Amino acid sequence: MLQSRPITTIKDGTDSRAGANGGAGSDFGTGAGIEAELANGGVVEGTERDGKDRSGDRDGSGEALFSGLGASPGIASGVARIVAELDQLDKVGEGDVIVTPMTTPDMVPAMKRAAGIVTNEGGMTSHAAIISRELGVPAVVGTGNATEALDDDDAVTIDGDKGTVTEGRSETDEQRDAVEEVRPQSPVKPMTATEVKVNVSIPGAAERAAATGADGVGLLRLEHMILSTNKTPEKYIADRGVDAYIEEIVEGIRGVADEFYPRPVRVRTLDAPTDEFRQLEGGDDEPHEHNPMLGYRGIRRSLDLPEVFEHELSAFRELYEMGYDNVEIMLPLVNDVEDVLAAKRLMREAGIDTERRSWGVMIETPASALCIAELADCGIDFASFGTNDLTQYTLAVDRNNENVAGYFDELHPAVLDLIGRTVETCREHDVATSICGQAGSKPRMVNFLVNEGVSSISANIDAVRDVQHEVKRVEQKLVLESIR
Ligand code: PEP
Ligand code: MG
Repeated sequence: MLQSRPITTIKDGTDSRAGANGGAGSDFGTGAGIEAELANGGVVEGTERDGKDRSGDRDGSGEALFSGLGASPGIASGVARIVAELDQLDKVGEGDVIVTPMTTPDMVPAMKRAAGIVTNEGGMTSHAAIISRELGVPAVVGTGNATEALDDDDAVTIDGDKGTVTEGRSETDEQRDAVEEVRPQSPVKPMTATEVKVNVSIPGAAERAAATGADGVGLLRLEHMILSTNKTPEKYIADRGVDAYIEEIVEGIRGVADEFYPRPVRVRTLDAPTDEFRQLEGGDDEPHEHNPMLGYRGIRRSLDLPEVFEHELSAFRELYEMGYDNVEIMLPLVNDVEDVLAAKRLMREAGIDTERRSWGVMIETPASALCIAELADCGIDFASFGTNDLTQYTLAVDRNNENVAGYFDELHPAVLDLIGRTVETCREHDVATSICGQAGSKPRMVNFLVNEGVSSISANIDAVRDVQHEVKRVEQKLVLESIR
């Protein structure tokens, strides 16, 4: 199952715009120097293929086998476990390196056990990239052919900064602690006027996310909570009932809301494309779409299936009734007032007081950016830039199409222009602005947004510290310039 949102698939390291992307590039949070825990157990018998013995304890400075995108920082050694089918997950033990076409929500327990992750497909916003960063597990994605180039039991070292996979194990056997790793070392948190928040995709990463000292969660994706049940919402409800469905969502959000309380947790309503749903039980009923990214997803699907969406909204109401007043509701992929008012009506029908609760929209389409003044008049409290989608729709670059991956540029002048105008209009209407796409972890985007006057920036867990410092630097520069 190819769950998630692969954007950039790296095959050969070329920098041609069409085709491969140049790599993680300007991201903060490379975390260089972090050495991953070595695989448990002793020397493992390797396989003899192409005359090479890749087993055992070579030093990992051996032959570079292939490369991809360094998607989650750190160096990890272990033996490869090729996972082509979900029923092969059991063979992944503590400290092994998962090698797979692409990770899926069902693989998360195995990803937690793994020392490292290598995928054939996907880019910096793919499931593998997002989840491995949250878990603090080094990952190299978009390698093209890792599952063919490696065999089970091959000893490998992956470098999640450089995006390389080399033969043998690294000599360093340092224990890592994924939570402590992101806890700021300096006793004083950089105080910034612009809030710095964190993105969370799996509720299990909440402790690690909170340890960063972030000012809240700028994006909590619901997808993992639903897709990890391996059923479409409709099938889940048919099999287990409405109450269980609501409970699933309440419990998923609650863990994160507890961890951050009273800091705000911005929860996005379900946004999974049909090709992701089709992989699940009940997925046979999903429409076959020419391009699922342009299809039946986000708020469109929710408004078209109000009998399902209302249960999601009931989960929010229950959380409010339980006292989680730090939970905020964010609507994905809205285009215009019609979308927003329809969703607002459903929220109210579900018993959510839209005057009292904080709710808002993602700005992911050029239409939503261009209609922002009207959206502001609908009563939204915030607008958050989903630059993964905003970039794909502004530049007509399909996130799933590796042939045009080199054109995917969140810092393209057209994307920045839409963002800049939206921030300005929101400021005029007293609507808070934020970013929750992956670009919020990039220094150039942080610099641009702080200069534009964005209210908050939500970054990947491993980038929060650097974003806090960059925000402070830019803010201080602005103050200096204003008094000079
Ligand atoms: C985005 O589009 O930037 C975003 C955060 O949403 P997703 O990547 O889940 O589509
Ligand atoms: Mg999006």
